[in-house]
Amino acid sequence: MGRTPDILSTDAPDATRLALEALARGELVALPTETVYGLAADARNDRAVAQIYAAKGRPGFNPLIAHVDGCDMAERLVELSPLAMRLVEAFWPGPLTIVAPRRADAGVSPIAAAGLDTLAVRAPAHETTRGVISAFGAPLVAPSANPSGRLSPTCARHVVDGFQGRDGPTLVLDAGPSSVGVESTIVLVNGDDAVLLRPGGLSREVIEGVLGRSLPARRDGAVIDAPGQLASHYAPAARLRLEATAPRDDEAFLAFGETPQRRFQENLSLSRDLNEAAANLFEMLWRLDALVAANGLAGIAVAPVPATGLGLAINDRLARAAAPRTL
Ligand code: AMP
Ligand code: MG
Repeated sequence: MGRTPDILSTDAPDATRLALEALARGELVALPTETVYGLAADARNDRAVAQIYAAKGRPGFNPLIAHVDGCDMAERLVELSPLAMRLVEAFWPGPLTIVAPRRADAGVSPIAAAGLDTLAVRAPAHETTRGVISAFGAPLVAPSANPSGRLSPTCARHVVDGFQGRDGPTLVLDAGPSSVGVESTIVLVNGDDAVLLRPGGLSREVIEGVLGRSLPARRDGAVIDAPGQLASHYAPAARLRLEATAPRDDEAFLAFGETPQRRFQENLSLSRDLNEAAANLFEMLWRLDALVAANGLAGIAVAPVPATGLGLAINDRLARAAAPRTL
C-alpha cells in the first residue's frame, strides 16, 4: 500500500521503455504534459482505469480524457466533424480537449467514459509523453496526477507528495515544471456546434479567432460535463479569500502585479502577464498552503486577476479552490 514511486527524468535513456512496460502491466504512470502532470493508464484496460478512480478518490461520474498522439488516433475513438477537425488542426498538440461522439468500436474502457456516448480526446504537447503514447499505440487516460479535488500537480514533487500513503503511480517521469500550468480547455463539438465546457490553457479568444465566431460557455447544466460543474475542486487545504487588494495580518498573500514586499507572499506575475500567472498558479498555491499550515495563518488572500486570456482559467480555478468543500 502506498509505496513511493520511482522518479525518472525524461532525459534518462530508458524513461520511455520503463513507462511503456509499467503501462503494459496495467500500472499507473505519472507523465509530464504542458498543462499539468497526468496520472496515465491504458485506456482499454478496465482494471487500470478503475485503479485511477480509486487512487484519486475520483467520483465515478467524472469521465476521463483519452490522450492520443494526434488526429489519426483520435479519429479511431470519436467522430470529428469538419469543425472539430479545424480546431484539432489549429491547436494540436496542445492544451485543447475536444469532446465528440464516441465510436461504437472505440475500444476504450466504459468506465473511462462514465456511461456517456461522447468521449474527450486530446494530444498533449510534451514530446516524451506523446512519444510514449505513439509507442504504446493506444490511447492513455490521464487525469491530473493528484487526489481528486486537491491542488493540481505542475511538477514531479507535487505528484509524489499528493499520493503519499496511497496506491498512486509506480513511476513518475520528471520533466520539470509544466509550461502552461493549468488544465486543458475543454470544448464540446457536435457537428457545427461548439460549446466551452471548461476554460483552460488555451484561451477562449484564440479559439474564437479560428472559429470566426464567439464560443459560448455551458454552465450550470444538470449533467456533469466538466469538473467546472464540481463547485469545489483544485483546492488547497487553506481557506482562500478572493479579490483581496491586500492581505490581513494573519493571511498569506497571492499577489498579481507590483505590490509591497511582505512575508508569506508569492507573486503570480510582477508584469501582470497572464500566461506567466497560469504557469505559476498551482506551484504558488502549494507553497502558500504549506506556509499557512506551518505558521498557523488564517488562510490565503488572493489579488484580483483579470478574466481575459488565460485569466479566465485562472479565475475559474481560484473560484473552485475557494468554494465550500463538497467532496
Ligand atoms: P481532468 O480531470 O482535468 O482530467 O479533466 C477531465 C474532465 O474532462 C472531466 O472532469 C470531465 O468533466 C471532462 N470530460 C471528460 N470526458 C467528457 C465527456 N465525454 N463529456 C464531457 N466532459 C468530459
Ligand atoms: Mg484534475
